[in-house]
Amino acid sequence: MRKSPQIKTSLPGPRASKLIKLDGTYVSPSYTRIYPLVVKKGTGLWIHDVDDNVFLDFTAGIAVNATGHCHPEVVDAIKKQADKLLHMSGTDFYYTSQIVLAEKLALIAPGNEGKRVYFGNSGAEAVEAAFKLARWHTKRELNLAFFGAFHGRTMGALSLTASKTVQKKHYNPFVPGITHIPYPYCYRCAYNLCYPECGVACVHWVEDTLFRTTIPPEEVAAIFVEPIQGEGGYIVPPPEFHRQMYKVAKKYGILYVVDEVQSGMGRTGKMFAIEHFGVNPDMMALAKVIASGLPLGALVARSDIMDWEAGSHASTFGGNPVSCQAAMKTIELLEQDLMSNAAAQGDYLMTGLRELQKRHECMGDVRGKGLMVGVELVKDRESKAPARVWRTKIVKAAFERGLLLLGCGENSIRFCPALTVTQAEIDECLSIFDAAIQEVADSQSL
Ligand code: PLP
Repeated sequence: MRKSPQIKTSLPGPRASKLIKLDGTYVSPSYTRIYPLVVKKGTGLWIHDVDDNVFLDFTAGIAVNATGHCHPEVVDAIKKQADKLLHMSGTDFYYTSQIVLAEKLALIAPGNEGKRVYFGNSGAEAVEAAFKLARWHTKRELNLAFFGAFHGRTMGALSLTASKTVQKKHYNPFVPGITHIPYPYCYRCAYNLCYPECGVACVHWVEDTLFRTTIPPEEVAAIFVEPIQGEGGYIVPPPEFHRQMYKVAKKYGILYVVDEVQSGMGRTGKMFAIEHFGVNPDMMALAKVIASGLPLGALVARSDIMDWEAGSHASTFGGNPVSCQAAMKTIELLEQDLMSNAAAQGDYLMTGLRELQKRHECMGDVRGKGLMVGVELVKDRESKAPARVWRTKIVKAAFERGLLLLGCGENSIRFCPALTVTQAEIDECLSIFDAAIQEVADSQSL
């Protein structure tokens, strides 16, 4: 029999309500909680809240727990390492797990050139390191990034981010020298063109307009780009986009830095999403999936580019031994069968969502690769007017029925479950999502 969520209390239940009240007094109000879930424990794709309600998790803790919650082999690797060494700081001392993980990442990163790895604690820190290294290596001051991009919230990373103004409001001035350009968001092309007739005009505009008018290309250090845009709405660029953009970058000695923090490490059916596009990037920022939920970020760069001197960048906790052991086990599990499961189940999920799309007019676009799948909600398919309020209502209606989802972009919903997901779990997700959309559609007009 197919396993289903079990919602035994009204939501939030009594224990959750108490804790949420306490949180409201003591925890920073800057977090964005769409629904009142207070988690007690998790196994695989199943989350138990503090009132013993059971939810099916298609968020994986914001695209992190690719091996499922508390994968026994990851937990075992963590326990074994915790018994031996919790911390020593890889910035001033050597220890095995950091060195071995660096070698592994260098070997699996795309391209045959030698690589080196810098370790931090988060996605923002990996991007921050890339930002500084690009300046250090090129001695250039300008950078390009994309509208819709999310690269993190520390000041350097936030300066590259162009996702939502609420993330930037009152934090000006940002790091200077960054120009944002349109991402190839073909469902809503910034130039009002259609793919493929456009000939990927968004790339040509950079060379033909930007580099001829305001931005001298020989002063640009790097182009920062998500292979598939994450927070921006799970947007998949056309197949030739990265190849063409990379070609422009190389023509002017500009580094191509890919932010794989959300798209990376097995989720799209390949270890790194950029591998779908036939480009070997100069640098790659990693985090999220890398250690199955323990804090770890990594910047993988070509060895000839990672040429900064001792003392120029470091972090006390970066490359923590327990996180590194969790990462080694995570990569082993991804390579064993989780990556291929992501490809197969991703197709199954996408087919299922496309079936639902036939019945629900508000599902304007279904897109993705592997288990990085987004649904963009619109008021009608003709006008494509964003159905922002509906998006939130559908996510909440799914929660009430025991399915955990997250939004992305202005009006999209992301499906980023653990890569251990089964067909039965996808069937359950699709049936709850279908009912949630129907409930919202029945209850009101757009
Ligand atoms: N880069 C991308 C593409 C992300 O999706 C995120 C987080 O969602 C970050 C960077 C920042 O990562 P963190 O929240 O670990 O700092």
